[in-house]
Amino acid sequence: MKRIGAHVSAAGGVENAPLNAMAIGATAFALFTKNQRQWQAKPLAENSILSFQQNCQKAGTAPQHILVHDSYLINIGHPERAGLKKSRDAFVDEFKRCEQLGLPLLNFHPGSSLSKISEKECMDKIAESIDMALSETRNVVAVIENTAGQGSNIGYRFEHLAYMIDRVTDKSRIGVCLDTAHLFASGYDLLTVEACETTFRQFDNSVGFHYLRGMHLNDSKRGLGSRVDRHDSIGFGLLGQTVFKFIMQDDRFDDLPLILETPRPELWPEEIRSLRSLAAIQPTK
Ligand SMILES: [Zn+2]
Ligand SMILES: [Zn+2]
Repeated sequence: MKRIGAHVSAAGGVENAPLNAMAIGATAFALFTKNQRQWQAKPLAENSILSFQQNCQKAGTAPQHILVHDSYLINIGHPERAGLKKSRDAFVDEFKRCEQLGLPLLNFHPGSSLSKISEKECMDKIAESIDMALSETRNVVAVIENTAGQGSNIGYRFEHLAYMIDRVTDKSRIGVCLDTAHLFASGYDLLTVEACETTFRQFDNSVGFHYLRGMHLNDSKRGLGSRVDRHDSIGFGLLGQTVFKFIMQDDRFDDLPLILETPRPELWPEEIRSLRSLAAIQPTK
């Protein structure tokens, strides 16, 4: 069965996120466990953790259908020592917060070379950072997201994801989240059923579906290979319906959090409903 939701607000406390998810008819969701644009955050309060877990039960959302997203400031592939240290500390803190909430999936953008080191050096640092975070925590899986390849961001090729996974010691705690808008912007065609088959076959060959722990379902404002990261609401961008129908009808995407990060929250209930209806209609193949 498909688990569909959105990256919902946790304003006022993480315990509000499951309620916000329930209100839009979601059966999965994503959240930040702290302000995503600040380095410092108060530790999670005991009562906040407890209400979070109670509200997840109320919403009927299991921990494996919840994707935590880390802060946008973190760059665990940072080329400079001080920047790397700051990012690694914050990254470990993100893992610890997941652990406290009993959530097994931490989703993050791999990092950026800032054009000061090679992509390979950057990926080596990222893998080392992941190893460090995994060794300081238990039970939380590091879920690397593919990127649009904007600027000097790493992770815009399946080969990048495979390279980093290969260098992480504990393979049981590393996974991948694929973002449809990022795939398209980074040059993976998703416009026809054949193109979707090819793209996901390439993913399976170089990374493997067994590493897939979630998806971000976003339409793209920018074209194939543009390497610009601009999300659009489903059906409003350049992707059209094909890739979403493909995903909704393919059982390799069952039981994973399928998360909208689309720009108009007021459309989320309708986007979720229409994705569900795509799962029910006749397959095209
Ligand atoms: Zn994303
Ligand atoms: Zn994006």
